[in-house]
Amino acid sequence: MREDIEVDLVVAGAGAAGLMTALRASQNPDLVVAVLEKSTTEGCNAAISSGSLAAGGTRFQRAAGIEDSAQRHTDDILANSGDERHRDLVAALCGVAAGYVHWIADDLGYPLEVGTDMPRKGMSVPRLHADPARAGGGPLITHLRKELADRANVAVLDEAPVTGLRVEDGTVVGVTGRQGRNDLVITAATTVLATDGFAGNRDRMREFCAELGDPFHGGVSTATGDSIGWLRPLGAEFRNMGACLRHGQVTLRGTRINPALPWLGAVLVNRRGERFVDEQAHGYSGLAGVIQAQPDERAVMIWDAEAHETAQHSEMMRESAVAGALQTAPDVATLADSLRLDPRQLAHALRPLPGRRALVGPYHYAWLTHGVLDHPGRGSHRHPRARPAGRRNHRPGTARRRGSGRRPRRGELQRLQLRQRPAVRLRHGLDHRQRDRRRELTASGGTALLAAPFAVLTS
Ligand SMILES: Cc1cc2nc3c(=O)[nH]c(=O)nc-3n(C[C@H](O)[C@H](O)[C@H](O)COP(=O)(O)OP(=O)(O)OC[C@H]3O[C@@H](n4cnc5c(N)ncnc54)[C@H](O)[C@@H]3O)c2cc1C
Repeated sequence: MREDIEVDLVVAGAGAAGLMTALRASQNPDLVVAVLEKSTTEGCNAAISSGSLAAGGTRFQRAAGIEDSAQRHTDDILANSGDERHRDLVAALCGVAAGYVHWIADDLGYPLEVGTDMPRKGMSVPRLHADPARAGGGPLITHLRKELADRANVAVLDEAPVTGLRVEDGTVVGVTGRQGRNDLVITAATTVLATDGFAGNRDRMREFCAELGDPFHGGVSTATGDSIGWLRPLGAEFRNMGACLRHGQVTLRGTRINPALPWLGAVLVNRRGERFVDEQAHGYSGLAGVIQAQPDERAVMIWDAEAHETAQHSEMMRESAVAGALQTAPDVATLADSLRLDPRQLAHALRPLPGRRALVGPYHYAWLTHGVLDHPGRGSHRHPRARPAGRRNHRPGTARRRGSGRRPRRGELQRLQLRQRPAVRLRHGLDHRQRDRRRELTASGGTALLAAPFAVLTS
């Protein structure tokens, strides 16, 4: 059966980006928002992530006596990447990051703190925020979805993949989708594509990231880059498609270990018994290429009880322990025997680098390889033909069958999961910001500049 639906905003993908977009937009009770999610059984990358939120200058940092700012956050990122070309974009994102962390904690009521136990390469001060239990992104996404469920002007359609864009006269006017046996035809003033990257799509990985070989994929299988296929026929221009989030601390069981371990003294040794890298010289993503270059593309990470005491408090270590990826050995001789390495060579490899502490037995260890977590598409899609086309006779706040000019009946609304409740209170002036955003999108000669992984298309 065909369902024709008209809303103000349609969002493809109920992950981190899609849920946040819907939450912000629906603060304006005059807007009706529909979110389509491909699969809740597989879920989104955000739900299997560590859920750590980077932001500089938060009240959590101030309370912990940490001096930080959006400027410092920006400078750290650019010093680490060495890529100054997109300073404005990085500065803009860092500029709003603290506000989002406060919003999630204070307005949405999700418990957050600054993770002083979460050092990362290139982060000059502790800047990651996470829940106190270090439970990962799952509970955060569940919390955001519950928050959305309470909003009267939002419909979240699960197991409802977007199948394509609706384009009229070169303008995106909504999406097509499917839910069960229903074909959905959704018209919207604004369409947001938040379907994430393509790390779960081997063909796309070969096309854009061939140099990575055939790495272990540690993300969700729904990240198949669907929006690339929709935007390409429209003449979209793709940039920075080779950028991706790798991980050099993936165990052979497919779990991850705590990226803080190198800063707690952990040592990496390859199958030849060589310590081949200063473990603190790379972030976990950069470390992936170093591990890839080792014999059999693997290495063993070794740490001690003192490091383990701190590192174990993370969902990554809990999952690795359950998967049987973490081992222990009481002394160097037993460790060498288990790893099939020469004990003297291993003892040599375990000697501390200048300024670092020496590891003390008993030892913990895990064999590691490299993987790809996500292809966040740190770039932009430029859709040269996207242009504004007014509101197409659409009144904000209505969800109606196209062409009928009437609000849907109660049963129709239930199918859309729109609940008839009093309008929610407008807490932020998003409507103004959104109008500004629309103006901005149309500013450059009728083209839209679209920042990935979100693509915002406005009709
Ligand atoms: C293991 C792991 C750990 C990570 N840890 C961190 C971390 O600690 N901190 C951090 O900042 N980042 C982390 N990341 C990266 C972070 O998870 C992603 O950058 C983030 O989830 C991207 O948000 P998104 O909304 O674009 O994608 P997602 O969160 O993946 O959401 C995309 C959604 O779109 C849906 N979708 C796809 N195609 C369609 C379609 N055709 N129709 C409808 N829906 C569709 C998917 O099912 C999915 O639900 C991690 C990633 C992984 C894999």
